Amino acid sequence: MSKFTIAIHGGAGTILKEDMSPELEEAYMAGLQAALDAGYGVLEKGGTSVNAVKAAIVVLEDNVLFNAGRGAVFTKKGVQEMDAAIMSGKDLSAGAIAGVRNVRNPIELATEVMHNSNHVFLSGKGANDFAIKQGVKLEPDEYFFSQFRYDQWKAIRDSDNYSLDHTNTHLEELMRDKKFGTVGAVACDSNGNLAAATSTGGMTNKKYGRIGDSPVIGGGTYANDTTCAISCTGHGEMFIRAVAAYDVSCLMEYKGLSLQEAMNVVVNDKLVKLGGEGGMIGVDAKGNYAMVLNSAGMYRAAKNSLGNQEVLIYK
Ligand code: ASP
Repeated sequence: MSKFTIAIHGGAGTILKEDMSPELEEAYMAGLQAALDAGYGVLEKGGTSVNAVKAAIVVLEDNVLFNAGRGAVFTKKGVQEMDAAIMSGKDLSAGAIAGVRNVRNPIELATEVMHNSNHVFLSGKGANDFAIKQGVKLEPDEYFFSQFRYDQWKAIRDSDNYSLDHTNTHLEELMRDKKFGTVGAVACDSNGNLAAATSTGGMTNKKYGRIGDSPVIGGGTYANDTTCAISCTGHGEMFIRAVAAYDVSCLMEYKGLSLQEAMNVVVNDKLVKLGGEGGMIGVDAKGNYAMVLNSAGMYRAAKNSLGNQEVLIYK
């Protein structure tokens, strides 16, 4: 039996201690801990990495603090359009969905695509039709309404700007207490199988059916048992252009870098040069994990079977 490990994130950005109230900080830490425990619980019982990352993501999607599922941000049209992906490193099977509405847990729909369709990536209305066919739970628009996200969107909806949920812009004041983000999980189970999953509402005020990196296999999500499992968060356009998650795997496979070294190169060199703010979490097939960010903060946590655990927010 090999060492088993799970790592999760709840988004990256300009997350500063001085902007955070003790109560909010506590709520984030509790949210991360609950998701970590849910995912770790699956691994502890001998479950697969795929089931572990899914379990962790569902908890984060149900928590309004994070920009995924219930807490998804508003688009230019004032609705929520969600993206998610899941990938198994064992056989490189993957499922992804983009621009879906009213799906309570987008990661469940992505998992349905992976297990029960002949496809990898479904979008928009077709993805919603597939959700109905598979009996994935739907919720009315009200379920996804939260006042703070509405206010966040209201402030920029008449502009052409779109923003990372948790980065200070000219909206600094408004955003100050509202630093939430995309969610992700990576795991290595007791058989040494890896999985990665990411779920998001994308960026506030996005339009034209914009899709970020989160559901893009190789961009924001990737898993391969010979190298690593990666889930990203940050300014999606740059992560797609950098093929960020797959690049970590390539640096390990073709250049022999360790997980930590490869993630450092991608996050702190390649992405920085593209102006790609954010971070990523990763595990390798030995159960080692790493969490690397080039922004001021990233909600993140990890736990392994050696008894190590950390729950962190700031850089
Ligand atoms: N990467 C996500 C996107 O661009 C946003 C985030 O990580 O918060 O859609």
